[in-house]
Amino acid sequence: MSPGTTIPRRPDEERAAQLLMDDLAAGPGSCAALWSNARMSHGGATRAAMKWWGWGEEDVFFTHEGKPELAPFIERVLGLDVRRPGTRAIAFEDLEIPAATLPARLRADLDDAVGPEHVSTADRDRVVHGRGKSLTDLIRQRRGELGRIPDVVVRPAGEDEVAAVVGAALEQDAVVIPFGGGSSISGSLQAESGETRPVISIDMSRLNRVLWVDATSQLACVQAGVFGPDLERQLNARGWTCGHFPDSFAHSTLGGWIATRSSGMQSDRYGDVAELTRGLRVVTPSGMLAVRPVPSTSTGPSVREMVLGSEGRLGVITEATIHVRRVPPERRILGYLFPTWAAGLAAMRDIAASEASPSVTRVSDAHESAFSFATRNAPTPLDRIKSKVLQAFLRRRGWDLQAMCLSFIGYEGSANHVAAHRKLSERIVKRHGGLCVGRSPGELYDKKKFDTPYIRDFLLDRGAPADVSETSAPWSELQTVYNNVMTAGHGAFGQLGVPGYLMCHLSHSYHAGACLYFTFALNPPKGRDALEDYGVVKSAIQQAFVDSGATLSHHHAVGTEHAPWLEQDISTPGVAMLRALFEGTDPGANLNPGKIVAADPDRRPGEALLGGERSKSNGTTGGPRRSLDARTTSEPPS
Ligand code: FAD
Repeated sequence: MSPGTTIPRRPDEERAAQLLMDDLAAGPGSCAALWSNARMSHGGATRAAMKWWGWGEEDVFFTHEGKPELAPFIERVLGLDVRRPGTRAIAFEDLEIPAATLPARLRADLDDAVGPEHVSTADRDRVVHGRGKSLTDLIRQRRGELGRIPDVVVRPAGEDEVAAVVGAALEQDAVVIPFGGGSSISGSLQAESGETRPVISIDMSRLNRVLWVDATSQLACVQAGVFGPDLERQLNARGWTCGHFPDSFAHSTLGGWIATRSSGMQSDRYGDVAELTRGLRVVTPSGMLAVRPVPSTSTGPSVREMVLGSEGRLGVITEATIHVRRVPPERRILGYLFPTWAAGLAAMRDIAASEASPSVTRVSDAHESAFSFATRNAPTPLDRIKSKVLQAFLRRRGWDLQAMCLSFIGYEGSANHVAAHRKLSERIVKRHGGLCVGRSPGELYDKKKFDTPYIRDFLLDRGAPADVSETSAPWSELQTVYNNVMTAGHGAFGQLGVPGYLMCHLSHSYHAGACLYFTFALNPPKGRDALEDYGVVKSAIQQAFVDSGATLSHHHAVGTEHAPWLEQDISTPGVAMLRALFEGTDPGANLNPGKIVAADPDRRPGEALLGGERSKSNGTTGGPRRSLDARTTSEPPS
């Protein structure tokens, strides 16, 4: 808070609530490093990759220690004793790593393109670049089932070098997979299992500079391989921010955000990446695609939108011109409690429809709230007293504490703006029976949110898969979508006969609706295939999304893992349009084939062409086409 800012006084009882919630200041996560510690690169240096088998940096782990309620909570809901030591992945040395097949001419061309020191066939490089970080990816990596890994990793330092790599790949019919941070959560990075052509992973991390800032237009031109912390550091140094903060911020890049239509925690104010991105430069098979950074245009169907979410299938994004804003003088995330989930949803809806414009609107259901409370640090004797006082107060108000929902609302801007928009929002919160519980929970959430992803590995070490599925739907349908997903998820746990936990929060509010983000965990018995059991639950939830009229994903993209639901989401002609776009742009299927829509089984190898020439079988006007139905049926992700 800036000096001199005044906060409206709250009644004593609300202050009591705030005191309790201040306990949460010692809440979730106790990882050894935050994103600010993430190793950064600048000016063409290479950046350390994530663990080959899990999330984040090698020396950072989640632990339940210091959070006395967490182990009993997990034991109660999952029947899992996390106090016993876990088992990690098999040793890297024990992996069976297939030999790289890289024809000598291609190797020479890649050496020429980026310099031999930036062409790597090292085992660790190839393994790390072989997959993203979906739950399926992590389980397979841990088991040593590597699948089709790239034959070579190249690290270009500029657009001309990217173009030279893509040119060599097309000429020699190799596959190119752009690699940002490798944080994909939907299977967007792995080469197809039967791929016989050489596979090149283009690691974009050396393209990491902010090239210019146009202060008048509030635009910045940025190289696509820049990681979140490095982008913010460069912009902040000039007084600007991009304002895009996905949970994967520390380990994902601008190009990856654009290629997956990412969304960040503060998207209510800054917009999703789809709104932030104005101009683009993309190396495509038919040359350099340039989208001008104009505020709006009427030039037919939006090419800009075609690149957004293209997952490397249309080309390699080298540069983007993005919205930037002045670093706000004040930034505040406050905690709130609602008596029920329905009240929390209604409050978020009314805030979206009001004149209030918060930067964050988030409310957890009772299950997620209970999980959050269980992750707090050991309370002091005074904390215990405060907690009892608050609970007594809420009961007197008629609250069922089991149904209570934790919420965060964020405000950014001048002190006046923050105060005014807070006032507007809190009027609505109050109307729905909610209660402000002060700054500490929000500050803690803000500080620790980048640690949360490490919990997945902590549970996997103990045999319990945990993952997320997120969607968006109109306000009028959100409660129904929620109910249907809860029924489907619990139905899947029941069908498998396994203990499971399913929780949800609303985030990213829009004019017409919001994102619902579900997190689930299950504890399959020993001897059962955790991946299969996980697939049953994940499929049930995804199916409930599309059956309820919601989308298959709000911000995690399609990849291969969500592809089975694409046709149900965007209709058969929608899939046909996408297929035509990919095949027309990349007739030889050299660019990350098989993602979003499955590869055309009729494509023959050796059809890569430079200069936009038409392929023999897949040209712009014909070539063999098989029925879409054969390729887009709803199979659960494997
Ligand atoms: P990668 O994973 O390297 O690549 C993803 C896809 O983009 C691939 O198809 C790749 O080929 C393509 N690609 C990458 N760079 C380029 C380029 N320069 N040109 C063309 N194609 C390219 N997502 C969110 O939106 N919000 C979140 O809060 C969020 N939290 C997450 C938390 C966890 C724990 C995990 C595992 C994932 C999370 N994600 C989130 C998903 C993921 O971080 C996003 O999809 C992110 O945008 C991927 O960026 P990346 O740089 O890691 O791309």
